[in-house]
Amino acid sequence: MPSYKSILIAVDLSDESEQVIKQSLQLYPNLQSKVHLIHTAEQPVTGYGELIGKNHCASENQIRQEIYPTLKQLSEKYGIPCKNLHIKFGSPADTIHEFAEQIEADLIVSGSHGKHGIQLLLGSTANSIIHGAQCDVLTVRL
Ligand code: AMP
Repeated sequence: MPSYKSILIAVDLSDESEQVIKQSLQLYPNLQSKVHLIHTAEQPVTGYGELIGKNHCASENQIRQEIYPTLKQLSEKYGIPCKNLHIKFGSPADTIHEFAEQIEADLIVSGSHGKHGIQLLLGSTANSIIHGAQCDVLTVRL
């Protein structure tokens, strides 16, 4: 089994996210310090709120504040360092690929399905992660 130096786990924060983390850590035990969790969120739309006189638009900071507690709970439960929690904005697969290169991840882990359910044999994000990756990809069957 390859010994990975940096593992990036993509979590959509659905109920299945825990299974993806748990399974990765079972396969690669004691690697918590090398594990990073990433969640990508849609870029907030700006400007629209001003047009109708209300501020509907969540800022990136607001979105981070909403997402962070869930990521932190996962990290505490599985012993992943807080500094390895990442919230990024953009399309999931592209953002995950870019970030994987940035941290020189040699393994990306995703679930086979996420919030979008199991309409497809392999979810669309899961599929896109596999196709554009510059490193190994582990897809946990959910
Ligand atoms: P999907 O293909 O959208 O059903 O999701 C499959 C897997 O892709 C999920 O189990 C996650 O591992 C990953 N994924 C999907 N959306 C996101 C997201 N917004 N941020 C991080 N990972 C995601």
